[in-house]
Amino acid sequence: MWLYFGDFGAYNDLVTGNCNDMTMTEAFREEMKAALLASKSRLESELGLFADKKDGEYEARYEDIGTDRDDNATEVEQYSDNVALEENLESQLNEVKEALGRIEAGTYGICAECGQEIEEGRLRAYPAAKECISCAKA
Ligand SMILES: [Zn+2]
Repeated sequence: MWLYFGDFGAYNDLVTGNCNDMTMTEAFREEMKAALLASKSRLESELGLFADKKDGEYEARYEDIGTDRDDNATEVEQYSDNVALEENLESQLNEVKEALGRIEAGTYGICAECGQEIEEGRLRAYPAAKECISCAKA
């Protein structure tokens, strides 16, 4: 059990921002926060078009377009497309929310795998990234 204390200490330094080699500037962090907030509202409005929020989770709406056999087939097809799209958008939304949480916690931009800083270019391309390029490839 004692073996874990060292790891915990290092982790603690990360979450409290005690790393001396942090190079990410406040301005860059603010820029990423703005980008994340913009994606959050875009994803929420896209989800709002065809899904309802229940207990904090989105669910695709089932659109009743008619009662004959063709209408029902179309409804089912439409619904399963919407469910797939909903899951995709919601997982993106959750990643964005997690990244915003890391900004609040001061751990934004630190790779969840290796603890190194995530490359600035990678964050610019994908602000919700939680792994550096080499860990994401691994
Ligand atoms: Zn990494």
